[in-house]
Amino acid sequence: MLNGYPAAAQNAVATKATPDAYDWNNRPPDPRFKADILVVVAHPDDEIMVAAYLAREIYDHHKRVAVVFQNPGDGGNNDVGPEQAAALGAIRQIEGRTAVASLGITNVWFLSGHDTASQNSLTSLEHCGHGRCLDQLVRIVRITRPSVILTWLPDFTTGENHADHQAAGILATEAFDLAGDPTVFSEQVSPAIHPNVAMNMTEALRPWQPEKIYYVYNPTHDIFEGQGPQYSSKDISPSQHQSYGLLAAKEVSHHVTQGGGQVSEAIANHTAETASDELTDLAMQPVKFIFGKSLVPSGVTDDVFAGVVPDGVSFQRAPGYTTATYSEPTLLIGDPWAFYQKLWQAHGLEHLKTLVPLEISIHTDGVFYIPLIIENPLDHAIGVNLSAQAPEGWKVRPLALLSVPAHAEYYARVTADAPSTKLPGWQNFTVTADSAGKSLGTIPIRVELSNGWVAPQ
Ligand SMILES: [Zn+2]
Repeated sequence: MLNGYPAAAQNAVATKATPDAYDWNNRPPDPRFKADILVVVAHPDDEIMVAAYLAREIYDHHKRVAVVFQNPGDGGNNDVGPEQAAALGAIRQIEGRTAVASLGITNVWFLSGHDTASQNSLTSLEHCGHGRCLDQLVRIVRITRPSVILTWLPDFTTGENHADHQAAGILATEAFDLAGDPTVFSEQVSPAIHPNVAMNMTEALRPWQPEKIYYVYNPTHDIFEGQGPQYSSKDISPSQHQSYGLLAAKEVSHHVTQGGGQVSEAIANHTAETASDELTDLAMQPVKFIFGKSLVPSGVTDDVFAGVVPDGVSFQRAPGYTTATYSEPTLLIGDPWAFYQKLWQAHGLEHLKTLVPLEISIHTDGVFYIPLIIENPLDHAIGVNLSAQAPEGWKVRPLALLSVPAHAEYYARVTADAPSTKLPGWQNFTVTADSAGKSLGTIPIRVELSNGWVAPQ
């Protein structure tokens, strides 16, 4: 008797056994979903930042591309009809799918986020349900198994002042570092118990480590020099016999609720190269990347696919966050800037620290809040004086003397009312703090005044 069966019965089982369906878990992943490039952006039409590059890679280098939108763009205006809010989001999902399908991309997913009118990425992460969106995105990385992820820059700059754009970049950066870890969303990478029977509650995916991540950024000032590879949109596709920029303009013209009609007109009138509307202009601009990180040998400005190996690389743990320690009371900038400093450290992106100084866009007549953190490692409470040097025309609200408890991370802020007319150039602020005649530090931060649309701070 072996394993509880009489020898005769055991032989009968051995000779008549049908293959165990559990073995289905060993089938190779569905090749229809394999991507060389996974694009992770916030809204339908954001893909315009890379559309000319995608046209180059799809048509002339035969790369496979998949696209993820963090939300359907359900908070925007509608250029063509009365539909708004959820109805507009439903329409824009179709526009997004149609647009990228014009480049042959059919693997498109929407995460469960919603449009967030804010400049603060943390509000977008809260609004979308950060954990749920990350779960969804890690799953898509494991399904598509990309070599390269292209996404929005996870940084707070005057050019990238939409919370959802930054949040898409944060989610993509997190997914890059998590999808290869089997302890993250482990139910996704556990074999199905009865693959031939409904319903299975584990997903039978395999962990996947992407190799490279690059960022795009919608500039108000050029920060790209030496930061990553750049691709001209004026180059003519050898296979399509038109410029990559024109192919990108055609792609973005499908976003009819968002100015696509103007792009179509420019294409029809053969003026796409010189058109002044924002979308056509973006389509015709060079595609400029900011190097995020690479787990294969690659220089910062090397081609996006430099060093990429076809079978992927093994999981590489990101450095992770370590708590900063202070021996003296210290003044620091608060969130969302403070958050980014921790995020970059956690994900091995410390070079982003020096990419742009602290900056923000504020609307004329708006209110500028400068969030601050005062670290007090001492064994006793301290009195702290805050002061702010502001440019002419701004009104800083009176600042109270602060009492910061012992061993506290204390939150405070400076509030300034913006002038009612647009002043040119950077508006430079300096915030200082002192305690008992001793400086706690100085925070410089610059503001671009705008009389156009600016999301609230
Ligand atoms: Zn957008």
